[in-house]
Amino acid sequence: MFKIFQNHCKPYYVSALKKTIRLFEQLLYPLKCLKCGVYIDPDMVEPHTMDACFCDHCMALGFYPMDSPFCTKCGVKFHKSFNENHMCESCLKTPLKLDRVRAALEYKGIIKDAIPLFKYHSKLSIAKVFERLLFETFLCHYANTRIDLIMPVPLHKKKLRERGFNQAFLLIRNFVKLYQQTFEQSPLWKIDTISLARIKMTQPQTGFDIDQRKANLKNAFKVINHKAIDNKHILLIDDVFTTGATCNEAARVLLKYGANKVDALVLART
Ligand SMILES: [Zn+2]
Ligand SMILES: [Zn+2]
Repeated sequence: MFKIFQNHCKPYYVSALKKTIRLFEQLLYPLKCLKCGVYIDPDMVEPHTMDACFCDHCMALGFYPMDSPFCTKCGVKFHKSFNENHMCESCLKTPLKLDRVRAALEYKGIIKDAIPLFKYHSKLSIAKVFERLLFETFLCHYANTRIDLIMPVPLHKKKLRERGFNQAFLLIRNFVKLYQQTFEQSPLWKIDTISLARIKMTQPQTGFDIDQRKANLKNAFKVINHKAIDNKHILLIDDVFTTGATCNEAARVLLKYGANKVDALVLART
C-alpha cells in the first residue's frame, strides 16, 4: 500500500520540489548577460549554453564553430578555400612540433569577449559551456585515437595563485565524467596535471611577434615526471591558440624528454 502511494506521489513531489528550487534560484541568482548585464529569461534558453550566458544583442556579434576546411596540421581555418582539408603553407615550410591542432571555435565574434570574461574576470558560469564544446570537439577528432594523457597547459605557480584557477584545467575538469556518461565505460586516457610544470614567469604574449613569443617562452616548461610521459601520446589543452608558441614550446619539451607524440586541443583558434 505504501509502495503504491510512494510510486504514485513521488513524481509530483519531485517535480514540485524541483520547480520551487528553480524559482528560488531564479530569484537569488537571476540570469544576466555576462557581457552587458541585461536580464535573460531562463525559460527561453537551455541551461549551460551560450544563449544562457549572453543576451541576443551580444550573441549577434557572431558565434563560429570551427568547420572545414582547415589545415590538417595546425588547424588554421581556410576562409577562401573550397577544397578539402589540407596542409597550410606555414606548416609545409616550418612544421610545428605538435602533431596536430584542433579547435572547437574560431576566435572571433562573441568568443573574443567570452574567453577574457572567463579567464580574467572569473565568470566561471561559462566554464560548463566551454567544457561541453571542447568535449564535443574531442569526440569529433579523438574518439578513435589512442591518447594516453590529457594535459592542460600549466600555469606558473605564482600566476595560479593570483588567478586562483588554471583555465585550461577548468576546460577538461569533467572530461572523465562526460566520457563515462557518453560511453558507459571509463576512458583509457588519464588527466595529468603534474608531469609538466611552468617554471618561468613569462610576459603576456599580446603584442609580440612570433620570434619574440618564442624567446619569451624559452625554458618556460620543465618535465617533472619523465617516466609518466615516456613513449606517451599526449593531448595538450589550452584556451586560445594564436601563433601556437605556447603549446608548441610545451610539445618541444615533452618530445625532448620522451613523449611519443603531442597534439593540442584548444577552445578557440585565430
Ligand atoms: Zn548582452
Ligand atoms: Zn597549418
